[in-house]
Formats: sequence, C-alpha cells, structure tokens
Amino acid sequence: MENKRLEVFVVGAGVIGLSTAIRALEAGFDVTIFAEIFPGDQKSIKYTSCWAGADHISHATTNDLMHRLERETFSVFMGLLKEDPLIPVMIRPHRRYAQVFQPDDQLKIDHLSKFYSDFRILESSELPDGVVHGATFSTLCFDVPRYLPYLLNRFLALGGRALRTTLPSLSALLSEKDRPTLEVFPATSSDERGPPTFNPAAVINCTGIGARSVGDVLDTDVYPTRGEVLIIRAPWVHSDSTFHWKDGHVSYVIPRQSGDVILGGTFQVDDWHATSRPETVKLLKERGIEAFPELLPPTKRETRNVEDLDVLEECVGLRPTRNGGVRVDTASLTLDVGGKQITIPIVHNYGHGGAGYQSSWGSASLAVDLLESVVNK
Ligand SMILES: Cc1cc2nc3c(=O)[nH]c(=O)nc-3n(C[C@H](O)[C@H](O)[C@H](O)COP(=O)(O)OP(=O)(O)OC[C@H]3O[C@@H](n4cnc5c(N)ncnc54)[C@H](O)[C@@H]3O)c2cc1C
Repeated sequence: MENKRLEVFVVGAGVIGLSTAIRALEAGFDVTIFAEIFPGDQKSIKYTSCWAGADHISHATTNDLMHRLERETFSVFMGLLKEDPLIPVMIRPHRRYAQVFQPDDQLKIDHLSKFYSDFRILESSELPDGVVHGATFSTLCFDVPRYLPYLLNRFLALGGRALRTTLPSLSALLSEKDRPTLEVFPATSSDERGPPTFNPAAVINCTGIGARSVGDVLDTDVYPTRGEVLIIRAPWVHSDSTFHWKDGHVSYVIPRQSGDVILGGTFQVDDWHATSRPETVKLLKERGIEAFPELLPPTKRETRNVEDLDVLEECVGLRPTRNGGVRVDTASLTLDVGGKQITIPIVHNYGHGGAGYQSSWGSASLAVDLLESVVNK
C-alpha cells in the first residue's frame, strides 16, 4: 500500500482519539498521539471520556451519520467480544421504563426496536408501579476505567507513540518555534524510535470539548451537555436500566465489570459547572433508589433510605455536544514554515455528545477512510 508508514498525528487521547489512532496504525500509518490528558491521569473536567457511564443506547433517530456510526460500533464490539473474552465490555439486559408515553416516544421506541435484535415491549405485568411503558433488549456496557487503559495499551502494543503536551493550536505542533514542551508518555517508556519528524502527512483532530478552544478549530458550535452521576458500589446489580420520570428527569443505571455501578444523571445544556452540586446529588440518590431499589444492599431495600447507598464518588463530565451533530470531515491548514507555505490535511473527529463510546469504532473507521482519501490525493 502506497501510504504505508506515512506519519500521522492524532490530537486527543479520549475514547475517540485512541480508537482512531488504533485504526490508523492498523491501516499502516506511523501514528503519534499528542494530548494533554491520557488514561490513568487524575480525572479532569477537560477529559470527558473518564466520566462516562457508559452503555450503548442509540439515540440517533434523526441523525443519519450518527446512526451509521453507532451501528458499525455495535457490530465491531460484538466481534471484539467473540475474539477477546477479556475486553472490559459486557453484554447486559437493558430495561427502559417510562412514567409517561408521549407521541415522540413512539419514534424512539420504533428506532430502538429496529436497532437491537432482541428488542421487546414489556407486558404490563412486568412493569413496576407507576410505569406505563417499558421495553427490554440486550446491549453493551463499557467498564470505562478499564476500557480506556485497554485502548491505550492496544495502541502502544501496535507501535504507536504518545507525547503529552497542551496545544494552543493544531498548527503549533508543526512549527518549531511555536511548539510547546513535549513529554514522552507513559513517562516510564523508552521511546526507542526518537521523536516524530514533525512533517506529518495529516493531523486528526479528536479534541472533544477542546475543539471549542483549540486554535485553527475554535468551533463555537461545540458546547457541553453537563452530566452529573454517582458511582455506587453494588456488585449485585447486573442490568442496565433507564427510568423516564413524568417531570422529564431520567434516572439510569449502568453496571461495570468491577461491581461498581453508575447512577445518573443529568443532561444540562451549556452548563460548564465542573463540580457536583449538593441538590443534584440529593436528587440522584432519591430518584435512584425510588426507580431502582436494587441499588441498595438486599437487606436494606424495605426501608429505602438514601444513607444506605454505598456512594464511592460524585462525578461531573461535559459531553462534547455540537450544533449540527458530530463532525467527521476533512479540512486543511496552510502555514508558513521557514518562509515556505505548506498545506497539511486535517481530519476532524469530534462533537460526539453523549454517544462517544457507542459511536467510537464507526467514527474511527470513517476518520481513517477520510485520512486515506486525503493523503492519497
Ligand atoms: C456522565 C456521562 C455519561 C456518558 N455516558 C455515555 C454513554 O453511556 N455512552 C456513550 O457512548 N457516551 C457516553 N458519554 C459521552 C462520552 O463520554 C463522550 O462522547 C466521549 O468521552 C468523548 O470523547 P472524546 O475523545 O471526543 O473527548 P475527551 O474524552 O474529552 O478527550 C479529548 C482529548 O483531547 C485532548 N485535548 C483537547 N484539547 C487539547 C489541547 N488543546 N492540547 C492537547 N490535548 C488536547 C484532551 O487532553 C483529551 O485527551 C457520557 C459522558 C458523560 C459526561
């Protein structure tokens, strides 16, 4: 293949950057990831991937591209699960309960029924008190604290190189005088191949919410959908569930392999508040045990006391949402290097909102297809 070992830079080491970098390595490129934050670092509001649930529940009823990416990702995971039983992803039964059923809900239900092969509407005898509609199907649950290092290790094992840096702009990487300090990541690794040439065939931009502020992108269509969740210790919970309340609040539970469980959540548009709010924590707990009493230890379910929830952590993450939906496309950067104008192709891959895990492999493949199309020109 002509483009074998062409050098490619990926900016971002979240679920999107890591998945894309793996696909680029598999396609034969020499790949370096540049990022401020990597898996295993202290959790940061600037790194959404570490805060996610995460499960695969397709919301893409109207966005055709996202629908395609989610579908491809689902089938990639089904393949990975067959190949590698140790992957930190589980198939779990999902239950969807609703206290009201509005005309829009029918659209969502029709979509889910086509997406998940074992989808079934629950009988009224299977519904908890106060619930008017329910459905069930099998889906994927990602153990995020294990899945991100899994991706990083897979990237490094394939020969990828990682450098820590904070970029004021994408072009800063390409200009010796503007380039910020770079540190080999992981700090303990010996980079036998030395630094990259800084003459890449293309740059892939996977900066998530950072796409709003990184120079050369500055996409003001990107905004946060704030998600506040709790991590609960409840190894006896094996189902993935959502409960749609009459007043619009959605409680949800996502189990992890570790026995920890995510209890959500909020979807707060354009809210940048980086730490938990006591009133939200209270709401999450109260609604959580009302909707899912199984979060409590078996002997404590009768009394339904929020104090009996074993809360390990209060979490806040900013879903990188984008007006117009996810951006996976190409652009270019023209810059002056030593008095000479050079043009570098850019592949953008950001703005996945609340669906970065469930669309990760589809997005990664599309980004690498675009990469191949621009570097072969
Ligand atoms: C509470 C919550 C629940 C969620 N649940 C789900 C779910 O169930 N299913 C699902 O599919 N998704 C879910 N999501 C959404 C998912 O987490 C995101 O879509 C996904 O993590 C976005 O990944 P990303 O790689 O684009 O961004 P990030 O993870 O934020 O990574 C961005 C990367 O870019 C780097 N970067 C940015 N700017 C710069 C710069 N200037 N210089 C250097 N590096 C830079 C960062 O350091 C980081 O490495 C949830 C999110 C939250 C908050």
